[in-house]
Amino acid sequence: MDVDVVIVGGGLSGLAATWQLHRHGINVRLLEARERTGGRVLSIPFGDSWFDYGPSWVWRGQPHVAGILKHFGIGVYEQVCDGDLLQQTAEGVIHRNDIFKSMQGALRVRGGIAAICSAMQAELPDEIVHCDTVVTALNCLSGDDGVVSVVTKAGNEFRASNIAMAVPLPIAATIEFKPPLDSKSVGLLASTPTWMAGQAKVFAFYERPFWREQGLSGDAFSSRGPLAEIHDATTEVGAPAALMGFVGIDALGRDTLTKSKLIEAAKQQLVELFGQEANSPIEMQIMDWSTEPFTAVDSDRIAPSHHPQYGIKVRPKLPWSDRVSFIVSETATENGGLVEGALHQGLGYACRIIQAFKREADLPVDKCESDPHTASMSWDWIK
Ligand SMILES: Cc1cc2nc3c(=O)[nH]c(=O)nc-3n(C[C@H](O)[C@H](O)[C@H](O)COP(=O)(O)OP(=O)(O)OC[C@H]3O[C@@H](n4cnc5c(N)ncnc54)[C@H](O)[C@@H]3O)c2cc1C
Repeated sequence: MDVDVVIVGGGLSGLAATWQLHRHGINVRLLEARERTGGRVLSIPFGDSWFDYGPSWVWRGQPHVAGILKHFGIGVYEQVCDGDLLQQTAEGVIHRNDIFKSMQGALRVRGGIAAICSAMQAELPDEIVHCDTVVTALNCLSGDDGVVSVVTKAGNEFRASNIAMAVPLPIAATIEFKPPLDSKSVGLLASTPTWMAGQAKVFAFYERPFWREQGLSGDAFSSRGPLAEIHDATTEVGAPAALMGFVGIDALGRDTLTKSKLIEAAKQQLVELFGQEANSPIEMQIMDWSTEPFTAVDSDRIAPSHHPQYGIKVRPKLPWSDRVSFIVSETATENGGLVEGALHQGLGYACRIIQAFKREADLPVDKCESDPHTASMSWDWIK
């Protein structure tokens, strides 16, 4: 199939690029390995609420998030942080802290962050988005004016002269390029960790947010574990109530535990922190991103200790330099690894392609900043 642009990877960066290119009349196809779009964005319903098993928060000062939410009319609400935060030492001693509000200013997205993905996908005709489509190779067709053939695991081929790789960079390093990418580019791809790829989240759902009645915010930091950082995950709908914790044991350590043992240990810790009522959740769930083959590779099993300085520019040598771009969130200089970085990279790539098509057609070229997606770059619209 011959098209103008092929986007590989249907997380937020790839979806945003596809959505924007399609709106501007460019013939684009999105190839996504999973059966769903969204990538690391995953919102799952329980009761009357949607819970975020991937990213949970966006922040003021993130202009692309603001613009997209406004465009689709998707609301936000404040993360609960009233009440005391708990600190648990390695020995199990619990201190109350009434000063530090770890999540102050963080915003949750109404209906979960996947509401953004759903809104974009709803505007794309079915033939554009190909789920269950694992890309295995990119072939640069010589003598064919820069055309690249994108080959899928099922043996299908999509041909285009512009390819955007919106997949985690270490995964891009495993895709076969013919001829091969230069070794410096492969090294950069392979060594750039995917933000949060090694993490696991545990959810405990309850009838009511009983911790609030004790003057607790639901925030807790623990050196004892197994949960290292806990937050109130109850949505604005209120039902069910939920606590969410990031598991503090890295993926290698998690291998030695069964899921049920980990969940039981997490429940015991919630009882230590929040009292006996934590012992009777309606349900508990765990999402381990390190076991997701389209997010994590082996090297992600040891998570970085802090947010890496992202924004690495992968500039492949000829013949790939003019043909392939890497646009996953980790390539963003600001907010790299975050939702904002993914939107910035996806929309920015689309803008550059749209400009190139306009130049070729001798049409006036707008600056990327004046594109409709950024009609409002501020959060003033939030009540
Ligand atoms: C647990 C967790 C918590 C997080 N918390 C936050 C937060 O609170 N706030 C925040 O801003 N960010 C957070 N993040 C980060 C945020 O989720 C990411 O920055 C963002 O979703 C990245 O989007 P992306 O499209 O760039 O990459 P991805 O979402 O990784 O998308 C890549 C896509 O490529 C697909 N793919 C992979 N291999 C292939 C292949 N061979 N062929 C075809 N498709 C392929 C994948 O299936 C996936 O859909 C969190 C992430 C996780 C996992």
